[in-house]
Amino acid sequence: MAEKVLIAGNIHQDGLRLFEQREGLSVEITEAVDEATLAGLARDVSAILVRSARISAAAIDSAPHLKVVSRHGVGFNSVDVDALTARGIPLAIAVGGNAVSVAEHTFYLILALTKHGGDYDAAARHGDFSYRSRPLATEVSGKSLLVIGFGRIGTRVAARALAFDMEVLVYDPYVDPKTIRAGGCTEVTDLHAVLPGVDILTIHCPLNAETTGLVSARELEAMQPSAILINTARGGVVDETALYTALTQHTITAAGIDVFVTEPTVQDDPLLTLDNVIVSPHCAGVTCESSSRTSRIAAQNVLSALDGSIEPEFVVNAEVLKHA
Ligand code: NAD
Repeated sequence: MAEKVLIAGNIHQDGLRLFEQREGLSVEITEAVDEATLAGLARDVSAILVRSARISAAAIDSAPHLKVVSRHGVGFNSVDVDALTARGIPLAIAVGGNAVSVAEHTFYLILALTKHGGDYDAAARHGDFSYRSRPLATEVSGKSLLVIGFGRIGTRVAARALAFDMEVLVYDPYVDPKTIRAGGCTEVTDLHAVLPGVDILTIHCPLNAETTGLVSARELEAMQPSAILINTARGGVVDETALYTALTQHTITAAGIDVFVTEPTVQDDPLLTLDNVIVSPHCAGVTCESSSRTSRIAAQNVLSALDGSIEPEFVVNAEVLKHA
């Protein structure tokens, strides 16, 4: 039977090319994100490759021939994994696609905030060289960086921080402390005990029931007034209301935010009114290089799953492969 792939959201042509090369495979691309439309389009497909649209249980249930859902990325909080697992369908993620891009973007935010890139740029354009005698910029060398989540992205952020001569602390209850020490970092078992000494806190864990609100009022209040928070993981890991309060009351000094609870952001989002915040539109993982790479990995995951040969390292619910 001819197989069909539904692509929800546009992907780089390099990924599309892999589908074009496969005989007997057709592709439908949709920009729709609403559940009813996606459920309707999924009715005759064997695979769904999805960027940011939510793939609900209803959409999954409406697709009787579905053999795989492939995320164009590594976060998967937008897909109902339980509904897929119940039907023995793998959820694939694009492992290796964008970790370097996110790690570099994290450092862009760290450096933009510590070096006051926006203020200095504006000053130079206005001929104001007075910052030479009243500096704002600080060095990252010798400062402490707390990395929450020591996975593909967190390990890369840590390596870059070590190259900047930072002291790197890691909080990840699921990683062996030996692995953390082998990476030149120090493991943290009690998050709250170290927060008062942290200069920069950066988040690289997934959003799930356990991590929702992991950084809330209590954590922000424990930090020092000069501290900086970076979130390139997911909105929701940080309590945005508590963050707004911390930034306006100078409980911490600044934040770099790539991800929001509501995306796209709305005009009256209070965080967007603050000068001590640098934001980006959930594009930490999206560079020219990663777009091509991620599209190819996500497309290959579809093809491999249709062939029954997808590797477990790309599959979130790898238990379904054992049953197959
Ligand atoms: P990963 O699975 O390789 O690593 C995640 C790490 O978080 C794991 O080591 C895990 O043990 C740890 N973790 C889980 N629960 C934790 C907890 N309660 N406290 C501390 N650590 C915990 O994932 P990754 O590829 O490094 O990606 C991390 C997250 O970054 C993704 O889940 C995704 O949401 C986000 N992300 C964002 C972008 C972007 O463009 N902004 C791009 C890619 C990924």
